[in-house]
Amino acid sequence: MPLLRLDKLLAGQGQGSRKEVHTLLRGGRVQVDGQTVTDAGQKVDPDRQRVTLDGHALLWRAHLYLMMNKPAGVISASRDPKARTVLDLLPADLCRPGLFPAGRLDKDTEGFLLITDDGAFAHDILAPRRHVEKIYLATLDRPADTADTDAFATGLTLEDGLHCLPARLWLGEGTDAYAAVREGKFHQVRRMFAARGKQVVHLRRIQIGGLALDESLAPGEARELTPAERDRIG
Ligand code: URA
Repeated sequence: MPLLRLDKLLAGQGQGSRKEVHTLLRGGRVQVDGQTVTDAGQKVDPDRQRVTLDGHALLWRAHLYLMMNKPAGVISASRDPKARTVLDLLPADLCRPGLFPAGRLDKDTEGFLLITDDGAFAHDILAPRRHVEKIYLATLDRPADTADTDAFATGLTLEDGLHCLPARLWLGEGTDAYAAVREGKFHQVRRMFAARGKQVVHLRRIQIGGLALDESLAPGEARELTPAERDRIG
């Protein structure tokens, strides 16, 4: 990243308007490499210099890539006038303007949700031609069987006549089954099982591309991905 004016950098990282950022600086709350800086025009190198606000290091990424373990009961939208959204769950240090969920999970679906402010990356991994595989753990009302596995592998036709791409299905313990799909149609996994006469009673996304959900994240928690983790997605 090129050298940037401190006020521009702070405003660009969601720390307030230029005017608000100037107030922060005048109040002596910003430090660069341990030195308090009040000059809004000071140039900083965000890749090499450590900038803190009230002692907390700021994230200096061109883009943020977050993995959330989405809980049931919240919607995968950036904002909603009535319902709680996944962005409402983010802690202040992971919030910044422009974040949105890349792809949707149903309100009742749990698990791996990618949240980013990188529109090009999101578009790329969601593009149907890219076929990035998403893996779901579904608990069904009765066990899946090898006829289901074959039907998934052939490419199911949903109740409205929609054809699905071939998908992988493998059987888990009891009524659990794992489905790996490469599309993101509305309620797709639930509808695929419904086409086989089985109801999904619980659904959790456990992997996107080559990156598995970090099981140490409690429902509702999120953390930043490392660049290597992001690259494993797509
Ligand atoms: N398929 C579904 O049916 N629901 C989801 O939330 C994701 C995939």
